[in-house]
Amino acid sequence: MEITVEITQFCPYSCNYCSSNAGQEGKHLNFKTIQTFINTFTEIDRINVSGGEPLSHPDFWKILCLCYEKTENVWVYTNMIKGIKYNSDIINDIKIEANVCLCPGKRIYIPDTSHTVNLLPFVSQGRGKNIRPVKLYIARSLTGGCDFCNHYLLQSDGKVVSSPCKKEY
Ligand code: SF4
Repeated sequence: MEITVEITQFCPYSCNYCSSNAGQEGKHLNFKTIQTFINTFTEIDRINVSGGEPLSHPDFWKILCLCYEKTENVWVYTNMIKGIKYNSDIINDIKIEANVCLCPGKRIYIPDTSHTVNLLPFVSQGRGKNIRPVKLYIARSLTGGCDFCNHYLLQSDGKVVSSPCKKEY
């Protein structure tokens, strides 16, 4: 079973598209409530610790330890990645996945230390409930890798080659 805990509604960014309505006035969920929720479940395969900005919670470390008592598969959804990304360079157990939620007119940031990039469709909820989601199409070479890419390309020099990765110039 996978569970997600939004441990706080505080976030320094207050994005106008925030699906959690998080912002600088947001309150933290108290530890007891979080503990009671997590201890409700006996078999947990994955825990997502989310917010708001979960790293802002004063009991973050306690919450993280509580999660690790249940499973080693713990994911923290943070937007403080610019500040902490170096951790993944020195601690092998920390893996960074960039969850890129595409929203019209918004810039995205993908840390250069990312191990994986997930493209997510925008969900219209919270403060973003009036934002129209864009359709998301993924190129076949991204979903299946280059071995599954099978199309032909007419190069600008007139040559036909079997796929963009095998261009002959
Ligand atoms: S939780 Fe994410 S989307 Fe919401 S205000 Fe913070 S950074 Fe923005």
